[in-house]
Amino acid sequence: MTRQAIVAANWKMNGNLSLVKEMVSGLKQVTLASNVNVVVCPSFPYLAAFSAESAEQSLSATICLGAQNMSEQQSGAFTGEVSSEMLTEVSAKYVILGHSERRTLYKESSTLVASKVTKALEAGLIPILCIGESEEERISDQTETVLASQIQPVIDAIGIEKFSGVVIAYEPVWAIGTGKTASPEMAQETHAFIRQYLANESQKIAQKVPLLYGGSVNRGNFEQLFAQTDIDGGLIGGASLNVDEFSVICSAAK
Ligand code: PGA
Repeated sequence: MTRQAIVAANWKMNGNLSLVKEMVSGLKQVTLASNVNVVVCPSFPYLAAFSAESAEQSLSATICLGAQNMSEQQSGAFTGEVSSEMLTEVSAKYVILGHSERRTLYKESSTLVASKVTKALEAGLIPILCIGESEEERISDQTETVLASQIQPVIDAIGIEKFSGVVIAYEPVWAIGTGKTASPEMAQETHAFIRQYLANESQKIAQKVPLLYGGSVNRGNFEQLFAQTDIDGGLIGGASLNVDEFSVICSAAK
């Protein structure tokens, strides 16, 4: 079965209006394989600019817009927060939820992340649910327990059937922004565990969910990673700020 492949750009708190324009122009030159979606996730202030620029340059609909976070609340007195409906209004299709920087720096629990996933699905957004273990957890053989503890609250909140509208990004915390990538074998082994965990609930859904790898993916290592059976693309931070490098990765994905 051919799963949807996804290459997503997580700009984090980087980029500006000129990068928005350059990225749209750069991606316009890229020919994507038929099962690939590209998702660019700039900071909130650039979402509307990215969708306007995409329309202006008639960018293919397979190159979509995503946000890096959102509130689990609907609306109201939540200063500084952004709702799911605000995201859909500016044409975002995806939203990254539970990134390790949100979990660590902003103390987002797996229960909160599960509420955000619920809210995103209600608004018609596709959540990119990020999970991953720290270096200490990997060394002490806790990886699978940690991943299960991050996935299970979401299964409890939405039920396994709704995972057909969810993307999971496995990002080992020790590989994010460090230049230390998981080896393709290690990444495959962990992705296979994640798929099996979902399969314990539903084999059919497990085969459908795109599983992305993230953590120091770049033009030098993506091919081997993406060639693994259970890796359906990547969530790319640093290398997604370079239009040429990101375009190369997108054009080779399948
Ligand atoms: P990186 O970031 O590619 O810079 O390691 C990935 C991410 O945090 O999503």
